[in-house]
Amino acid sequence: MSKLPHTGTTIFSVMSALAAEHKAINLSQGFPDYDCSDELKEMVNQAMQQGHNQYAPMPGLLQLRTAIAAKIRSLYQQTINPDTDITITPGGTYAIYTAIATYIHPGDEVIIFEPAYDSYIPNVLVNGGKPVLISLSFPDYRIDWQEVRRKITPRTRMIMVNTPHNPTGSILQEEDMAELEKLVAEHNLLVLSDEVYEHLVFDGARHLSVLRYPAIYKNSFVVFSFGKVFHNTGWKMGYCVAPEHLMKEYRKVHQYLCFSVNTPMQYGLAEFLETPAHYLELPAFYQQKRDYFLELMNGSRFTPLASQGSYFQLMRYDQISSEGDKEFATRLTKEFGVAAIPVSAFYHDGKDDHVVRFCFAKKETTLEQAAARLRNI
Ligand code: GLN
Repeated sequence: MSKLPHTGTTIFSVMSALAAEHKAINLSQGFPDYDCSDELKEMVNQAMQQGHNQYAPMPGLLQLRTAIAAKIRSLYQQTINPDTDITITPGGTYAIYTAIATYIHPGDEVIIFEPAYDSYIPNVLVNGGKPVLISLSFPDYRIDWQEVRRKITPRTRMIMVNTPHNPTGSILQEEDMAELEKLVAEHNLLVLSDEVYEHLVFDGARHLSVLRYPAIYKNSFVVFSFGKVFHNTGWKMGYCVAPEHLMKEYRKVHQYLCFSVNTPMQYGLAEFLETPAHYLELPAFYQQKRDYFLELMNGSRFTPLASQGSYFQLMRYDQISSEGDKEFATRLTKEFGVAAIPVSAFYHDGKDDHVVRFCFAKKETTLEQAAARLRNI
């Protein structure tokens, strides 16, 4: 009997395949169409040439964990023990799954905000947990903390947050963190904070990592991705940060899921992180892409919603069509040659606000060609 009877193929595979089939410009699945740094590739090559080709330690290469702890200290003023509190993972999605598999028992309730990255709900279900779903308010996608309070029960075990947010591009504010801190204290909740877009925050805003708040962090798993920020999603490299008592349990599961992550990439990334400019330059790099895409879309009949972070831009299309978003996204791909993600795919019940998600982590020429097509609709 299926453990996930209502789960189909992830929308990211579906839309990327449709884009390939119709030779459409693919602004659907979130990945860059430009290459990662030559310097970083050279660092990885060198590690391979030097013979670093056997298993890495189960929690990850210590050099890499030490470099991550230094970055966390300088960006989020939190002292993390690289030995006990950081585990290198094959990507962010894996890191999220492992936290859920470690702590969610059958019947445990997990608060999830929708629209939600599409792995969250199946991850909870496959472990016997119960997703408790709360819609973010449309169109600004803020959290209604009163509603969160109403949905907490004695079975509530975990709350999942995601900032910058996929697919909406919203970011958590100081008020949100204050609310989260109170809830964690009152109900002793675990927090799973998906921060894979940590460096992609625009207009001078600060990324409010859970790592900045010791009273939240003490109950948290915080998930990051190298692929998302250093333009190499195909490497499947990420990490999870959690206090020692939580990480100890996490590693018990991790050691039997993948044991350890590929070694040469870890050497390369450890060296790359020694230069802070490599991540400090990312907000400006991505803001320029967001701004350029918006400028190119000026004069189209799409209406942009605010994108404060991530590499996604939501657009309403109500001036173009009254179709459902899946139908519209499919037609956009087939007839107009641009693929996007229908945002209803991020709701368990297919809630449809007639919005599609475009990924602007693309070369300028790609954005120009896509926008030229989209302006003609
Ligand atoms: N996170 C990426 C997105 O939202 C896709 C990840 C994936 O395809 N699994 O598009």
